[in-house]
Amino acid sequence: MSLYSPSIEKLIESFERLPSIGHKTAARLAFHMLNASEEETNEFISSIVNAKKNLKYCSKCYNISDTDPCIICGNPKRDQSIICVVEDVRDVIAMEKTHEFKGVYHVLHGSISPMNGVGPDDIKIKELLSRLMDQENPVKEVILATNPRVEGEATAMYLSKLIKPLGVSVTRIAHGIPVGGDLEYTDEITLTKALEGRREI
Ligand code: ZN
Repeated sequence: MSLYSPSIEKLIESFERLPSIGHKTAARLAFHMLNASEEETNEFISSIVNAKKNLKYCSKCYNISDTDPCIICGNPKRDQSIICVVEDVRDVIAMEKTHEFKGVYHVLHGSISPMNGVGPDDIKIKELLSRLMDQENPVKEVILATNPRVEGEATAMYLSKLIKPLGVSVTRIAHGIPVGGDLEYTDEITLTKALEGRREI
């Protein structure tokens, strides 16, 4: 039986569902919120509600954005002929932090993982191919920046096989990122090196 009242227990449970939050941390956050002022509480709630309401996917790159197209796709200074393919929205932020990449992105929203029941149709591959076939905006190069894990590598190989016949150069970021690593947690210098060291696949 729980020592807390059902409403506190429910709040703790909600926090516990967040990634990397254990029971102890969840309880700490729950009690922090209970002690917070009404103003602080309302601000917290409305920031979540507004983010959910205002954010949408960019119809070109599928990055999460307040606007469509997103600020990257809509920036005339970005080279629309180079597309960097990443698994996750957070990978876009990681790449942007390097200040090295001047092209545009395509966010797959996952990687092919038969073990987890994720096939090519479950991620934004069709959408990428239709961008590559758009004659009005020809693409010169696709940089595959999926994570250097089994799923990321498999996705890169799959994409390479699909894209090459379209006459588009396909490169893969290579050096510096540890195998099994996460793009999101890779420092800027390593990521810059990885981008510079990309190779054709
Ligand atoms: Zn975009």
